[in-house]
Amino acid sequence: MLKPLVLVVEDEPAQRELLLYNLAAAGYRTAAAADGDEALLKIAEEEPDLILLDWMLPGISGIEICRRLKVRPETRAIPVIMLSARAEEADRVRGLETGADDYMVKPCSVPELMARLRTQLRRTRPAGVGERLTFGNITLEPETHRVYRAGVEVRLGPTEYRLLATLMERPGRVWSRAQLLDRVWGRDVYVETRTVDVHVGRLRKALKAAGADGTDPIRTVRGAGYALG
Ligand code: CA
Repeated sequence: MLKPLVLVVEDEPAQRELLLYNLAAAGYRTAAAADGDEALLKIAEEEPDLILLDWMLPGISGIEICRRLKVRPETRAIPVIMLSARAEEADRVRGLETGADDYMVKPCSVPELMARLRTQLRRTRPAGVGERLTFGNITLEPETHRVYRAGVEVRLGPTEYRLLATLMERPGRVWSRAQLLDRVWGRDVYVETRTVDVHVGRLRKALKAAGADGTDPIRTVRGAGYALG
């Protein structure tokens, strides 16, 4: 599975570069925006997994961006950590009231920022930050890249592994083939949508062969895509 993508919205070039450097060093994929308009564009284009959002930006403020994100169903679930030079209690409360998931005062301690980032991503991208996942009798361990069904190891190719990790992060969610391509193969890779069906087929076969019951945990949703459970 692809590493979580963190969008850094910060108008100060030095601070922006420092954040991008530390995020990349921690293994995250990154994207950056220097003002509010660029941020909204990048959010629509890249669909980040988390946003580090500076409060004071030229043009649309960080707080306004946060408010807009939290009212739209497509972006509501993206965790937002507001970064601000303001340390006043009232500002912190206001930041959280607009729907920000967390708030930090600049300059931030890098280890603390990374810890808070992980806390947010543990909810939304658990496998992406190394959390072990379970669904029924299936267990997936990101640290070792191993998958078990009813205690028996399931041998999967790297693509089938990423596919299963994606499905297990959001049981019940219906993924279109295009969404799976973005998440499992990446946006920069050109792959035909039919390829998704081929790999889902292989994953199904491997999962059915493992464990005792041999049931198929993957559901095909006609005209829509695939879901786990
Ligand atoms: Ca700023």
